[in-house]
Amino acid sequence: MSAGYAITTYKIQLNYKHLDWFKQTQSLFDAVLAFYYKLLEKQPEALSLTNQNLLRHLELQTIKQRDGTPPETPLPFEKIPLYFRRAAINAAISMYRSYVGKLKAWQEGTIKSGKPSPPKRLHMSMLYYKGMYKDFDEKSILLKLYTGKTWAWVKHRYTGRPFPKDAELMSPTIVIKKKKVMLHIPVKEIVKDSRTAKERVRQNEKFVAVALTGSDSLAVCTTIEADGRATAPYFIKGGKELAHRRKQLLGYTKRGIVGNKAPRFMTHTVGNAALSVPQEQRPNKKYYDKITRLTDHYAHEVSRKIVDYALKQGAKLIVLPELKESFDQAKKPYLGKTPYDFIGRRIVRYVQYKAWQKGLVAMTSKPYYVSTRCYHCDAPIARHNTEYQNPSVNFYGGKNFICKEGHRGSTALNSARNLGKGFYERFYAGAA
Ligand SMILES: [Zn+2]
Repeated sequence: MSAGYAITTYKIQLNYKHLDWFKQTQSLFDAVLAFYYKLLEKQPEALSLTNQNLLRHLELQTIKQRDGTPPETPLPFEKIPLYFRRAAINAAISMYRSYVGKLKAWQEGTIKSGKPSPPKRLHMSMLYYKGMYKDFDEKSILLKLYTGKTWAWVKHRYTGRPFPKDAELMSPTIVIKKKKVMLHIPVKEIVKDSRTAKERVRQNEKFVAVALTGSDSLAVCTTIEADGRATAPYFIKGGKELAHRRKQLLGYTKRGIVGNKAPRFMTHTVGNAALSVPQEQRPNKKYYDKITRLTDHYAHEVSRKIVDYALKQGAKLIVLPELKESFDQAKKPYLGKTPYDFIGRRIVRYVQYKAWQKGLVAMTSKPYYVSTRCYHCDAPIARHNTEYQNPSVNFYGGKNFICKEGHRGSTALNSARNLGKGFYERFYAGAA
């Protein structure tokens, strides 16, 4: 068994006394970043160096050497801590590389859009290497900040979810958003069993297949045994509740602005028309934010349940449907008409990540015919919701199915079984 690791970014909110010190420090950081960015612009050929050598190369030009040799282009700021400077140089390198990369792709015709323009604002959130922070415990952290006159160690208490045990905390980034100061901390966790899906398939282990739906069962799981049998159906509900709460929130967005003292004749884009306005500028932004958070919450819940189910079943592999890429829906989770449209992709993404953390592998498989054929006999299926309805082949939303052989049951479970069956036939049969 081999080990691997997974990295998650934890976000914690800092309690501070001096917001201005964070702002001072950030503007100094941006000034150092800008200085190195402009220096790099004069020597684009230096980009052929590795990042580490490029950093050294830039320092040689700007920092006094140990033997006292003065630099050609001295850094015009005094008393910049070493690791603060290095973080700013690395930020400058990465911004410049990114711009030059885009420009090159445009010149070579790889990207079709307009000519990329250089970054308008030379700014990046501050990465704090060791030396810029210390005494990081469960309640507080000491940060080295620039007060405008001098550097000071300042203790900050914080709030946020606790860090996992035995995890390695990597260098935090300080993210200042209006009056909020957040620390983004990549947390590295060791994952015990990181064999690839291919290795697992070769060992003919059982696996879990999942169907995602737009109905009340947001996900339906089944376990495919090593001999190919589909067992242990598991329905994860919540779709109705989510759809209801989502509809409620969308309703609020149509009401106009509550408590706003703006003149009555002022018009706002509201409801569905508002979806074409960037989220940040919408009059009822808080409701759209709520929808996004709500969806995210359900996606986390469902994906956690899927992974827990796989663990309970002793499966090491989870197979999910490969969803068609839709840029718009991925960007705007509230746009989809059914829960499936706006939550499916997130569930897939979160399952992949959570599975990896638990030492499982999750992968996607193309769902060929999974929702149109009977798992038992491969005949086309008809669907219906209630027994009073005539089953129809074209009723895609139907929760129950029936085939001409008389097989019947849950459409979603049938899809999960078919996905598992297809995957089994393609990979296990050939891999044994
Ligand atoms: Zn059948």
